[in-house]
Amino acid sequence: MTRTRRSGQTAWHFSAASAPPPAPSPISRASPAERAVAARGKILVSACLMGHAVRYDGKAKPLRHASLDRWQAEGRLVTICPEMSAGMPVPRPPAEIAGGRSGGDVLSGEARVVEATGGDITEGFRQAAENALKLALETGCTHALLIDGSPSCGSRMIYDGGFSGRKHEGEGVAAALLRRNGIRVFADHEIEALAAEIDGS
Ligand code: SF4
Repeated sequence: MTRTRRSGQTAWHFSAASAPPPAPSPISRASPAERAVAARGKILVSACLMGHAVRYDGKAKPLRHASLDRWQAEGRLVTICPEMSAGMPVPRPPAEIAGGRSGGDVLSGEARVVEATGGDITEGFRQAAENALKLALETGCTHALLIDGSPSCGSRMIYDGGFSGRKHEGEGVAAALLRRNGIRVFADHEIEALAAEIDGS
């Protein structure tokens, strides 16, 4: 299931706010520069980083960076909100991984994801992670740039499950599953390191 966001529609695989990727050209007619871009793979990116208002509080958290603009112009970005892909609405209750655990613990069944309102949303977060991985593999993503702190997309720090604002080292469920499957995951504040790794810049 892949749907593309249009204004006013519920969707999870976004492309409308991004510049449309260049029209695909037959490989025989691709320029050396186009072939070089294709060979470098694509980058899965959190929708809220791309300016989509998909966070639990109905807001976006856009990231401005020249490398992001260039990757977008090159058609290398694949934008997803994992939580929306699993049917979660906007807005939605804040959620955290309980007990100071991490995304890997959720995948192995040793930890739960809970809402501030008391609901157990573990299965939704597992599905969100599966959707992100499926899209990444289908579209040839070798890397991911995800917003840190989220119980889905966090890759360095996440909240501790107490809804008190405390964070600890850990990763969200989607970030953990992507890493387990060989995708190189970077946090939003690591974009310079990502650029250095994939572009040698
Ligand atoms: S952090 Fe990830 S799951 Fe949360 S709103 Fe942004 S894209 Fe969606």
